[in-house]
Amino acid sequence: HVLIGAIVFIRFGGPSFTKDQADLAKLVAEHVTQLLERKQLVEQIVRLEAEQRFDRLQEDFVATVSHDLRSPLGFIKGYATSLLRDDIEWDPNPRREFLTYIDEEADRLSSLIDALLDSSRLQSGNLKMALQPIRLEALLVDIVQRSKSRNFNLNFKLEFKASAHKIWGDPVRLMQVFENIITNAAKYASGSDVIIGLKWTDDSAHIILKDTGPGIPKEHLENIFKRFYRVSQDSGPERGTGLGLYICQEIIHSHGGEIYAESEGKGTTIHIMLPRAQPAQLDLEE
Ligand code: ATP
Ligand code: MG
Repeated sequence: HVLIGAIVFIRFGGPSFTKDQADLAKLVAEHVTQLLERKQLVEQIVRLEAEQRFDRLQEDFVATVSHDLRSPLGFIKGYATSLLRDDIEWDPNPRREFLTYIDEEADRLSSLIDALLDSSRLQSGNLKMALQPIRLEALLVDIVQRSKSRNFNLNFKLEFKASAHKIWGDPVRLMQVFENIITNAAKYASGSDVIIGLKWTDDSAHIILKDTGPGIPKEHLENIFKRFYRVSQDSGPERGTGLGLYICQEIIHSHGGEIYAESEGKGTTIHIMLPRAQPAQLDLEE
């Protein structure tokens, strides 16, 4: 037993305590001790549980990350070692092919590291947003333009009209959100239509990004926004870390917005709600 305190009963000058009174005092003291001990135990359990959860998260994290960093690194090392072999004189064609792989895998490695850094900064609340009034329509047209230049096998359909409304957001981060979602469509719904819709209400913008691909099974819908979650770890030839939608969700949440996915049998729809810029924020622009 660790001494955590003392209860003192004092009666100045009066008659001494009777046995009953002393017993009562003892009972009170025991009660208080029990309450305090209980509180300490509960605190200890909460602390232990948090530590355990953290340990588990860290183990998962290390396992997933090292796997994902290792595979592009393995390619780079393999092709570089082959190219450096003394006993082979490589023709220009395979040489160029190997260098292209090395180049692509290095890019992949670097975007993976960016995503990991983003996700850990987001988790610790260290990713700063540069918020300003933005015209969403311009941003959405821009992302479609960019996707086209990346030769995604997608057929874009814009279903919104220009408006004077603005949202309060960080254009670079929101671009990242749309890019992650459209890259997913290109990966998991190749050849599909991508319909981009936008509706305004009094206080928010509702963005809809819909593909007509295979969709996502219902039981996975809630989880796809979790860190490292993938519907199937060995989901065909498509590579990924399961960070894309997690990063989207964190960015949208730090805008005070909402994001969720819908998939009814066929196709996947991502809904994003973002708050509109308030009059005072619009004034800031001038
Ligand atoms: P990363 O984006 O980090 O490269 P990822 O694409 O696997 O990896 P998320 O973008 O978070 O990770 O997506 C999580 C999972 O949700 C994907 O692995 C995929 O199984 C599923 N998914 C996401 N978008 C679609 C889509 N448009 N159609 C079908 N499945 C999808
Ligand atoms: Mg993704």
